[in-house]
Amino acid sequence: MTPPPAALEAVDLTRRYQLDGVSVEALRGVTLRIEQGEFAAIIGPSGSGKSTLMHLLGCLDRPSSGHLRVNGVEMSGLSDTELAELRNRTIGFVFQSFHLLARTSALENVALPLVYRGVGKAERRERARAALEAVGLGHRLDHRPSQMSGGEQQRVAIARALVGEPKVLLADEPTGNLDTRNGAEVMAMLDRLNSGSGVAIVLVTHEPDIAAHARRQIHVRDGLIELDTATSPPSTTRPTSPLQQSPRHSATEDHAPTPPPSPQPDPEPRLSGTSDRPTTPPSSPQPDPSPGVSETGDHVASPDPRDSGAGDRGVLPDPRDSGAGDRGVLPGSRGSGGGDRTGEEGR
Ligand code: ADP
Repeated sequence: MTPPPAALEAVDLTRRYQLDGVSVEALRGVTLRIEQGEFAAIIGPSGSGKSTLMHLLGCLDRPSSGHLRVNGVEMSGLSDTELAELRNRTIGFVFQSFHLLARTSALENVALPLVYRGVGKAERRERARAALEAVGLGHRLDHRPSQMSGGEQQRVAIARALVGEPKVLLADEPTGNLDTRNGAEVMAMLDRLNSGSGVAIVLVTHEPDIAAHARRQIHVRDGLIELDTATSPPSTTRPTSPLQQSPRHSATEDHAPTPPPSPQPDPEPRLSGTSDRPTTPPSSPQPDPSPGVSETGDHVASPDPRDSGAGDRGVLPDPRDSGAGDRGVLPGSRGSGGGDRTGEEGR
């Protein structure tokens, strides 16, 4: 039997930016394979290239050179629309700032990605409810983000990332806006989702304590992988849906901080493999209905940062961006921070 393709396979990825006429080589040749069901942390100091790598892995950006296969599909030959379809089908995103619609219930926030897939309302609500139950928030369906703790908001964001049943969950500093207790709660949730459902998780962090929750630590420095260590093998549980598993905790346990697992050094750092895998053709694209207004009046935009016509801008709303109301923007690769960086190469 043919083994399943890697969830993500990067071969010699580079990414250069032009900044004020100066070329910055953010990634200098990264080869990396994330298997189905892995739980890996990308760790490194600020400016080492973590976010750049994550945005490439998430198909939010294209490399200057190199190859990326997502669930067996080579991205380089895809048009922007095809790439967006691949991303929407395969990858869920969690960002530091939650990016929830502020005036919209948890249920609607989670159901939103399904609008863009053309899923009917009743099914959307049912799947959103199941996703919220899977993150232990079945009792908060009608709460708005402002009525929730930071940890709960991030769990809503995780439910939203999982509702489309992705192969991979990419989390960029998911605990960065949380205190220690809420951060531990979110990490425990990711751990449970990974081992319970088999969704691969790649998280980016600069905090060793957070990286220690993952079963593999990929250390990035100066645009290169300098060390890649595994502390335990990938999860072997493989339900067909990441959301088939009920949470192993009840709502009353939600606030119990879970200590991070003790990291166990792996005597054998992994070498980045470059083995070729069969390419699987993408499944039929899902229709993307027009952007609209949520049931509670929050304006929503296309969930695809590349479809929004906003360049690198994101797609889901940033709660910090209160001046923009709730007008939807997708969680972006660079958010609006990319605005002062111009002339990116390698497009
Ligand atoms: P990290 O996430 O580890 O902090 P980044 O991937 O954000 O690192 O950045 C890696 C390098 O690339 C840094 O030198 C950063 O300044 C530069 N960089 C990142 N994004 C851009 C951009 N859009 N334009 C220009 N330079 C960038």
